[in-house]
Amino acid sequence: PVNLVWHRADLRLHDNPALAEALRTGPALGLVVLDPNILQNTTPRRRAWFYQNTLALREAYALRGGLLLVRSGRPWEVLPRVVTELGIQRVFAVRNSTPYARFRDQKVGEALPGRIRWVPGQYIHEPGSIVKPDGGAYTVFTPYSKRWWAAPAPVLLEAPDRFPPLHLPPDYNPGSVPQEASDVPLPPAGEAAALKALEVFLHDKLPHYHQARDGLAGEGVSRLSYYFTLGVLSPRLAARKALQVGGEGAHKWVNELCWRDFSGDLLYHRPQMMTQAFDPRWESLPWNDDSELFAAWLHGQTGIPVVDACMRELQATGFLSNRGRMVVAQFAVKLALLPWQRCERAFRNLLLDGDNASNLQGWHWAGGLGVDAAPYFRVFNLITQAQTHDPQGLWLKRWVPESGGRAQPYKTPVIDLEVARRRYLAAAERIARG
Ligand code: FAD
Repeated sequence: PVNLVWHRADLRLHDNPALAEALRTGPALGLVVLDPNILQNTTPRRRAWFYQNTLALREAYALRGGLLLVRSGRPWEVLPRVVTELGIQRVFAVRNSTPYARFRDQKVGEALPGRIRWVPGQYIHEPGSIVKPDGGAYTVFTPYSKRWWAAPAPVLLEAPDRFPPLHLPPDYNPGSVPQEASDVPLPPAGEAAALKALEVFLHDKLPHYHQARDGLAGEGVSRLSYYFTLGVLSPRLAARKALQVGGEGAHKWVNELCWRDFSGDLLYHRPQMMTQAFDPRWESLPWNDDSELFAAWLHGQTGIPVVDACMRELQATGFLSNRGRMVVAQFAVKLALLPWQRCERAFRNLLLDGDNASNLQGWHWAGGLGVDAAPYFRVFNLITQAQTHDPQGLWLKRWVPESGGRAQPYKTPVIDLEVARRRYLAAAERIARG
């Protein structure tokens, strides 16, 4: 009897609990389902990144004598077909917890009663597993993180050396991985590349991470997020290796992985945050659904150098520093009052690391929509943000040459920043007072 490993956001062989479990009781093969519900709702760059990592996973299987199937369709139709065709004994999958993933997995579970084993592995500590002493969910990061750091470290798993031989029908079609052109250059795909990038980061940048992480140019950071999002790199392994290096940089970096887990936990407990502010009172800000203003923001044409540099970099590369993400999200929500849901979605689709949980948490946090303890009355000064986090102006000049590297508006801004700030604060105070 053969087992099946259904890979979703875990496109890796190393430290993969679904794979390890599957191999414990027999030979196993992998499956990636090309799910139209996900793929039709995203962008060419993100599909291309997913396809390249799927291809790399297929090669990793093949190198060890294994096989990865690729099938298109709705998972709750595809899986029963594969199970029947190959006489699969059990299906193993790493648990996902976005609202769509939970809907999907429930349907697949119903289509294959008793045959699926869900295992942890997308996070260091599973959404829902870090709870208050009274069993409730955390909504503030610091107390969550205290519990998180105190939780026992997960046991890491090796990638298999060789897959046991399978006896499939000789004409069995493994299915092909589509190809799609990306509009941005993609990083090297696959877990071997991700593990190498991790080693380079640990050696070169981790020791100074706590001092260098906040720059707008995103130079002191790992840029491993696009591997974590698809599970090409295990966050459990990355945290373990960083802590082995030790020091303040390592502590700060692993704490960022804790933010990733916290994001997953928030969405797990509060699926409504996909469409509604975590604290629903903030829905009554005087939103301004102005398509021209939205387009100016999205394409980096606001006249405000730091905002435009961020959005142009994101458009051109699929990546943006954490500081830059906070700046543009706060500009969009608090100053432009663009409906946050529209911005969050467009933003996620530009990011190679775009992830529902982390992006929602980031937008809620930066936009003051009720996640964590971020005070609503904090409104960035967009001139000093640039001067502090890009002191030479080199990053600004690179992305907005017309600014000459200066933080002041290079043309009349699409909104008057001072008027916008006062308008937001007046509305926010009314809401906060109730
Ligand atoms: P590092 O600084 O090297 O951090 C290591 C890892 O920790 C990251 O790869 C990431 O997995 C995790 N991490 C770091 N910061 C955060 C954070 N604040 N929240 C959650 N996880 C974090 N991250 C995403 O992965 N996908 C998103 O869609 C996303 N959208 C965001 C939107 C906004 C508005 C904001 C403010 C933040 C968003 N983030 C998102 C979080 C963070 O900005 C990125 O994870 C980080 O910039 C990626 O770069 P890095 O890999 O070099 O990070």
